[in-house]
Order: sequence, then structure tokens, then C-alpha cells
Amino acid sequence: MDDLVATVMDARLIDLLECWRRSLASGQMPRSPMDSFADHTDHLLIIEFDGPHARYSHYGAAFIRHFGTDLTGLSIDVLPTEILPADRRGMLEFEYSYVRRIVRPLWRSYTADFGAQTAETWQRLVLPIGDDRLVVGAYPCATGLDASSGATSSGANLLRLVIDRVPVVLTEDGSVADLALTLRDFSDTRQHAAEMEVLAALDPLTGVANLRHFHHLSGLELEHARRMGRALSVLALDIDHFKRINDNWGHAIGDEALRAFVAACRTALREPDILGRCGGEEFAVTLPNTGTAGAAVIAERLRRQVERIRLPLPDGQTLQFTVSIGADTIAPADHRLEPAPSIADLLAEADKALYRSKANGRNRVTVAGLEKILAL
Ligand code: GH3
Ligand code: MG
Ligand code: MG
Repeated sequence: MDDLVATVMDARLIDLLECWRRSLASGQMPRSPMDSFADHTDHLLIIEFDGPHARYSHYGAAFIRHFGTDLTGLSIDVLPTEILPADRRGMLEFEYSYVRRIVRPLWRSYTADFGAQTAETWQRLVLPIGDDRLVVGAYPCATGLDASSGATSSGANLLRLVIDRVPVVLTEDGSVADLALTLRDFSDTRQHAAEMEVLAALDPLTGVANLRHFHHLSGLELEHARRMGRALSVLALDIDHFKRINDNWGHAIGDEALRAFVAACRTALREPDILGRCGGEEFAVTLPNTGTAGAAVIAERLRRQVERIRLPLPDGQTLQFTVSIGADTIAPADHRLEPAPSIADLLAEADKALYRSKANGRNRVTVAGLEKILAL
């Protein structure tokens, strides 16, 4: 190991790197990596790749204590942004795919708030094991950038600065081989990842989730509902005779109407409800923890809120319009169905109910489950 690396790297990570090197040299990466890294279990993540998904198959107790959540079994790419903010997710995904590609250790430190009141510095080491797994060790440590500690050389301080900004690629025996990014790339990537994440998720006209993001968020809620055995409902919304608004008043007023519609929906919906734009004048809502009766109430509230819209027009008049709604619900017992219904299935049923609202005269709510009950 490089002398400078040995000076700067946290002693526990030096030991972890040594454990990794030993099991690599022995030619037998154990199926259970815990055996090789027994002393580090609490500060270890094991990440398994299953197609595009990076899943935490082990999430160390120290992280659970520190961050207050246990991510064992969860895929990084489906974690809500409250748990893994966009910029950190971008960096992690970058690091993991990079290590899989170069098959070498990656070392870095990062200083952040982590929800605690004071900034902390952690050093982390990402190590490849086999084709489909990574071991990550991370320890909180002193920054070491303390000028009063005369013992540290300027070389060591420089290396500390570098690992705090870009991931450093190490050779198998722990010497510096390369930087994973240039310093310039790093700040761009971080900002870029955060911006791209937000832009890719939202509809630019109305600011609500776009269809892809709606499916993503709703899929998380559906999974949660399944685990907890709770009901969940989906609404399909389509503004009535929207084409006439465009034809009579122009596209710009049509756009205003869409924004007013979204504002009305937000008034009628609750905090955890997910509103998305499916395209054009069609929207969808996921109502977590809501059964058929609740969905009927909220859909009706939404319909009435849209009826109240008075959009000022250039000639001094006001524009009014209405919405037709269809709803479908997955009841707790339905979670046992094989195959399990997806958000797309629920939305397709809600769409059929919506079609019946249109056929029956528009400006109304049709709830698939209630129709089933009434038909009995
Ligand atoms: P229905 O009651 O049967 O739903 O009638 P409709 O006129 O609402 O339905 P239709 O699907 O025929 O028309 C939807 C219109 O929405 C057509 C399209 O020009 C308009 N549209 C789609 N996206 C936008 C948009 O982003 N802005 C504006 N202003 N209009 C849009
Ligand atoms: Mg339509
Ligand atoms: Mg329409």
C-alpha cells in the first residue's frame, strides 16, 4: 500500500481492504461475504445486482442506527428521495456502476449533514466481488484537515482534499491508480444528476409527476399497500370537451385551464395522494390507504372542485369546465391475487370506469368497485 494512502485511509478500511485482498488471493469469493468481513459487519453494505436493480442484501447495523432506516432488501433505484436524495443517489449509482466496470476498489470520503445537526465526514470503500455483487464499507472519521496536526504532510492533506471531492481508484494492493472523475466532472455530475432527476420526473406545463414518475411513485405505494395489507385506489381523470376550449379560446388558454385544473385537484387531494399527468388533458391519481368508499368521496370532491373553477378570459368572461372520473380499488384481499395487479392494471380498470362516466353524460364519477357491488 502506498504510504500516503496508508496515512490517510481510515485504519478500519485498511483492514477491510486487506480482508478483501486475502479472499481474492485465495481465489474463493465466498457466497456469504460476511465470513470474510466478519469484523466489519456493522459498517458493511452488500449490494447485489439483479438486472438494472442494485439491491441492498445486507445493510449494516451502524447505518440503521445512524440513518434511522433499514434498507435491507430494498433496491436503490426505487427508494423515495426522502430516504436517498437525488444527488446522493446519482453519486452512488455512478460509483457502483464504475466499480463493476473497472473491477477495482474505489475509495472516497464525503462530508455531509445526514440529517444530524453537524456535518460529518465518512470514508467509504467500494469493492467488487464477483460479477453481480459489491461490498461497501464506510466509517465516520476525523477529517484530518487540521493544520495544527503538524504530523500530517501536505501530500496527505492534498490526498484528503482529493478523496473528499472525487472517488479515487485503487490498485488491488491499495495504491492510487486513477481518479474516477476529474474534479470538474465531479461538480458537474453532482449538479447534473440532481437536475436531471427532477426534470425527468415532472410535467413541464403543470409541474405534476409525468406518467413515468407517476408509475414509479404509485408502484412504491402499491408495494407498501401489499406489505401492509391495505387498500389503494387509482383515479383516471379526463377533462370534458377540452378540445372546445382550445378551439374557442386558443391553445394558451387551454394551457391555463390545465394549470387551473391541477390547482383544483391539489385542493381536493390529501398530502399523500399522487397526482400525475398521463398526457394531454388526462390525469391520474393514486390514493394510498383508500378503499372504494373513500375513493368515491375523494373523486366526487375533486369533480366538484373542478366545477368551481372560474378562469378569467381576455374578454372579461370566465371559463368553466368539468371533468369525468373513473376509479378502481385494490382491496386488502386482492393483494393475494395471482398475478398481483399492477398500477397499470388498476389504471386500465379506472379508465374503463371513466369511459362509462363519459358515456353517461360526463361531469360524473364512476367507481368500478361500487358498480360490482351494485351488480350483486
Ligand atoms: P371528451 O369530453 O370526450 O374527453 O372530449 P375532449 O375534447 O376533452 O377530448 P379529445 O381527446 O378529443 O381532446 C383533447 C384535446 O386536448 C385535444 C388536444 O388538442 C388537447 N390537448 C392535449 N394536450 C394539450 C396541451 O398540453 N395544451 C392544450 N392547450 N391542449 C392540449
Ligand atoms: Mg382525452
Ligand atoms: Mg377530454
